[in-house]
Amino acid sequence: MNAIDDRPTISERYTIAVDGTYVFDENLLIAAGKCKETLGTMLLRLRGEFDNAKASIDGTGNTTLTDRLLILAQLKTLREAQEALSYLAAQRAIVERFMQPAPMPRELAGMKGWREDAERKGRAVRALSGRVLVAFLDPNCHACDGTGSLGGYGSLQVRSICRACGGSSKTRAGIGRSAAEREFAAHLLGLVERSVSRAEQAISAGLPQAKEVRRIVGEAVS
Ligand SMILES: [Zn+2]
Repeated sequence: MNAIDDRPTISERYTIAVDGTYVFDENLLIAAGKCKETLGTMLLRLRGEFDNAKASIDGTGNTTLTDRLLILAQLKTLREAQEALSYLAAQRAIVERFMQPAPMPRELAGMKGWREDAERKGRAVRALSGRVLVAFLDPNCHACDGTGSLGGYGSLQVRSICRACGGSSKTRAGIGRSAAEREFAAHLLGLVERSVSRAEQAISAGLPQAKEVRRIVGEAVS
């Protein structure tokens, strides 16, 4: 049930190290420190905060709305990651021609409507990026608790397919009201996953060097 268990080792170890609650591996901390800060490292850190906060509130993976709000309130780097992802989403929306404003009207009379439309589209892109971030942090659907169906606890009750995730059990399946929105959200989630995996690779690559640094420092102080 708990998705944290399937996560890559680097991610988990990095999390523990940056959170400071328990330095699991000093080499990893050194390696992470040598990496350039990217969207990937930012998201890796945020997911670490999320996993820690979630574990401290409820280790079983079943969380109520209040629990989820409490978890979000604990995330120190949520805002910066949210802003970075929202910025990326706005850029990608232009490239992908998603939710683009209509050409600016020549008549002044049409300006107000045009501006409102552009603002509405900007908010829609931002909202989608927020939902993508949630799907990245918490991949299992909350409505059905990652089971894909609802009800059916008693012998007479029939289980029904969860409408939030369409029975897929994944948060990502519920993003977007139109085909275009779903496609853009999937594109964004793909970018998020690739940037995180690049960050994990960069940290792994820095590990041998970090071990060497630690050995030299260790020799110098002993
Ligand atoms: Zn569901």
